[in-house]
Amino acid sequence: MNQFDEQLAVIRFQPDEEWQHVLILDDAICQKCRAKQCLTFCPSGVFRESTEAKQPLMVLYKQCVECGGCRLICDNIDFSYPKGGYGVTFLEG
Ligand code: SF4
Ligand code: SF4
Repeated sequence: MNQFDEQLAVIRFQPDEEWQHVLILDDAICQKCRAKQCLTFCPSGVFRESTEAKQPLMVLYKQCVECGGCRLICDNIDFSYPKGGYGVTFLEG
């Protein structure tokens, strides 16, 4: 297990079932996007390709580790921090 995997192992998730804090703003932009840097940039694999042409990406927001990086790599991603009590908790290893 490398150092990053060790860090991930101490994260606990409390997902908000009623509010998705990571969103794609416009699916049409994703349809035309060739680089799709979100697929490789997100350390937690939140963005996955879908087989649906109208909605080319799945957003698995419940596994987001709240690094905030997606705000920097694509204007078509709307990231907010989860509401209080939800999201990730980092435990001392
Ligand atoms: S979220 Fe951004 S980087 Fe990812 S496919 Fe859509 S436009 Fe491209
Ligand atoms: S905040 Fe980080 S972990 Fe969450 S979706 Fe964005 S890049 Fe992925």
